[in-house]
Amino acid sequence: MSGSRVLVLNSGSSSVKYQLLDMRDGSRLAVGLVERIGESGSRIKHSPAGGESRERNGSVPDHDAALKAMAAELDRDGLGLDSPELAAIGHRVVHGGLRFTEPTVIDDAVLAEIERLIPVAPLHNPANLTGIRTAQTLRPDLPQVAVFDTAFHTTMPESAARYAIDVETADAHRVRRYGFHGTSHAYVSRETARLLGRAPEDVNVIVLHLGNGASASAVRGGRCVDTSMGLTPLEGLVMGTRSGDTDPAVIFHLMRVGEMSADEIDTLLNKRSGLIGLCGDNDMREIRRRVDAGDERARLAFDIYIHRLKKYIGAYYAVLGRVDAVAFTAGVGENSAPVREAALAGLEGLGLAVDGGLNAVRGDGARLISPAGARVAVAVVPTDEEMEIAAQTYALVNDSGNQNLT
Ligand code: AMP
Repeated sequence: MSGSRVLVLNSGSSSVKYQLLDMRDGSRLAVGLVERIGESGSRIKHSPAGGESRERNGSVPDHDAALKAMAAELDRDGLGLDSPELAAIGHRVVHGGLRFTEPTVIDDAVLAEIERLIPVAPLHNPANLTGIRTAQTLRPDLPQVAVFDTAFHTTMPESAARYAIDVETADAHRVRRYGFHGTSHAYVSRETARLLGRAPEDVNVIVLHLGNGASASAVRGGRCVDTSMGLTPLEGLVMGTRSGDTDPAVIFHLMRVGEMSADEIDTLLNKRSGLIGLCGDNDMREIRRRVDAGDERARLAFDIYIHRLKKYIGAYYAVLGRVDAVAFTAGVGENSAPVREAALAGLEGLGLAVDGGLNAVRGDGARLISPAGARVAVAVVPTDEEMEIAAQTYALVNDSGNQNLT
C-alpha cells in the first residue's frame, strides 16, 4: 500500500462530518461538514489546511449527494478521492455489539452484522450504514474500515456489563451494557498516561467525556472495566438533552398515568431531558452565564449535573481501588473550569483536588490542573476521535497490506 491519507467519515442521519488526514505526520489536510441532509437549508462547510474556509448552500437530498459534494470540495483542493495517496476510508460506527472488539475491514458480512444491530442502535447504525454504502460506490476498490464506539468497552467484566434482570430474557434480546464514546475513552486514557510519562498498562484513569452527550469510564491499565452508558447512550450522566439514569419505573408510570406512548417517552428522555429539560438550555456556557446572573432554574440544572458526575467519580474510584488520574475531555470537560472545579470539590479526602490557577488557564493541549504533588493527577485532555479513527484505520490496512505481501 503506497498512500498515506485516510478519510474519516462520521455519518449521522442528517449530517456527515469528514476529515482527511495524512498519517505520515498526523496533519489534517481538510475538515468539513455537510448538514441538514434531506432537509431545507442544506449546506456544506469545508476547510482545507492553510486555505480559506468555504461555505455553500444548496440542495443535498441524500447521503449520496452529501458525499459527492464533499468529493467535489476535496477535488477543488487537489485532494480528490481518486488520488492514489488515499489509503483507506475510516467510518465511525456507533454500535458494534459484542462481535466487534476491534476496528474491522468492511465486507458484506460486516455490513450485515451492523445492520443486525439496528434494533439496539436505531438512531445511529442506519445512518452509519448509509455512509459506508455510499462511500463504497465512490471508491469500490478502496479498503473501508469500521471503527466502533462500543469496541473499547468490550473488555468490561460481566459484573459491570450485565443488568440484574432475568438472564434468558436479557440474552434473547441482547440486553446488556455496551457503552459508547469508546474511541474517545481509548484515546484520552492513553494520552493521560502519556501526559504522566507512564505506560498505559501501569495507569488507572477515570475518563469524564463531557460533551453534549456525556459518559464516564473506569480504565484499569489501558482496559475499560466500567462505563456509564449502557444498552444505548441514554444511561448514566446528565447530558445536554438526555436524562441519564432514571428509575425504569418512571417509564411505566408515564405510560400508565401520563398516557404517553413508548415513542413519546423515548423522545422525552433522549431529546427533552437533561440540561435542556431542566432549564431550557443545553449549552454549558449559557447555563453558567445564567447561574452567575442568579437564575435559580439554571443553578438547579447545574447542581443536578454536578451531583450525578460526582456520584460516578466516587463509584469509579471504588471500582478501580487505586486511581492515578481523572481526565476531563470533550466540549464541557475541556472548556468549563466551573464544571471541573465543582465536580471535584470536597473530594480532597480521596486525593482529588483542582488548582484554581491552573484550572482557569485556557490551553489547547493536554495539561495537568491538580496541585503540585497531588496524590491523584487531574488533567484536561482534548479528545480527538477523528485522529484515533484514522490511526486505527491506517494501522489495520497497513497490517493487512503487509500480510498480503508475505
Ligand atoms: P461536544 O459534544 O463535545 O462538541 O460538546 C458540546 C458542548 O460543549 C456544548 O453543548 C457546550 O455545552 C459545551 N461547550 C463548548 N464550549 C464551551 C465553553 N467554552 N465553555 C463551556 N462549555 C462549552
